[in-house]
Amino acid sequence: MSAPGPTPDRLTFEHRTLPQRVLFGSGSAAANLREELEQLGSRRPMVVVTGSAAAVARRLLEGTGVAVWFEDVVQHVPVASAEQARAAAQQHDVDVVVSIGGGSATGLAKAVALTTALPVVAVPTTYAGSEATDVWGMTQDGRKRTGSDGRVLPRTVVYDAELTVSMPVGLSVASGLNAMAHCVDSLWGPRADPVATGLATEGVRLLAEELPLVVADPQDLRGRERALAGAYLAAVAFAAAGSGLHHKICHVLGGRFDLPHAQMHAVVLPHVLAFNAPAAPGAARRLAEALGAEDAVAGLAALYDELDAPRSLRELGLQESDLPEATELVLGQVPPSNPRPVDRDSLAQVLRAAWEGDLPGTGGRPV
Ligand code: NAD
Repeated sequence: MSAPGPTPDRLTFEHRTLPQRVLFGSGSAAANLREELEQLGSRRPMVVVTGSAAAVARRLLEGTGVAVWFEDVVQHVPVASAEQARAAAQQHDVDVVVSIGGGSATGLAKAVALTTALPVVAVPTTYAGSEATDVWGMTQDGRKRTGSDGRVLPRTVVYDAELTVSMPVGLSVASGLNAMAHCVDSLWGPRADPVATGLATEGVRLLAEELPLVVADPQDLRGRERALAGAYLAAVAFAAAGSGLHHKICHVLGGRFDLPHAQMHAVVLPHVLAFNAPAAPGAARRLAEALGAEDAVAGLAALYDELDAPRSLRELGLQESDLPEATELVLGQVPPSNPRPVDRDSLAQVLRAAWEGDLPGTGGRPV
């Protein structure tokens, strides 16, 4: 007699909640950072910071005895930059790595932690969400390698919406939709579970409500705060559920074709949703509710119109002649958990639609 396997209509899951302290408050980053460094007994922090945040970072950390400033942050963490940052940490006998900036700064701090096990304190300035995951990524020779390792999970995240106000509207929208993609992919990721689903749907609700306010008044901290909180929920959901089809596509496009991260996620998301929604009615219904719409695909399209979101991979620099290679590379990585079977033709159609940029759900393509 064979052992009983899981029955399809029963609920079985293993959920991991990652241990992390989160300090959230506008105008509180300097005080919260100092308190955290004191708790850690840090005497020689290293600060990894993107150029856009360098001046702010010096103000936030004034008088804390920073041992080394590392400002050479490059998107998708080239291995060479990780090695430089690790060498700097070793040379300056660093005891904590503080990252201040978008996902690229967080990613570089994680790369240092991966080999040194130094604690990371992350101060995010975009909605990328890397700070809430134990996933690292590095790029070499046009290939992005990722992995998950407890050493890279930032011990503490310091959120201060004032640091996000300098994000131009276009980046705020793209980065906010990158967070939205974390939510949507969490609904059908390989480890999707009710905890991740709850976080993801609340993340969608916050992002869909607040991103239009950020666009209408980029200086208004209320919209900025709630969008940032939504981005955190999105990232926690994603950390639990793992990469679904959307993230596998973007992983290939980012690593092989070096497309801008947030904009690429924003462009691909509606096409993956339109592809999967008919095969995932429960997820589509939850999404529609969270978007305040009757239909998830049409609701997302309406939000994209309102936000004037980026539309096509073509405008991001992907060549039409790159599509076959992209299709082959993604095909080898399609998660078995995807609610709809994916073959070469259907994947090629999704990628072509994202390249052309007709938004599904707006009349350009059927929902
Ligand atoms: P980014 O960090 O590269 O920032 C994009 C640009 O915006 C940069 O020029 C940066 O200087 C600027 N910028 C950042 N914050 C700003 C602000 N407040 N005001 C003005 N300019 C600002 O981009 P990103 O989208 O935040 O992060 C993308 C990277 O994060 C990618 O490498 C991606 O792979 C990684 N990521 C990793 C995970 C993970 O779990 N490991 C999750 C999400 C993203």
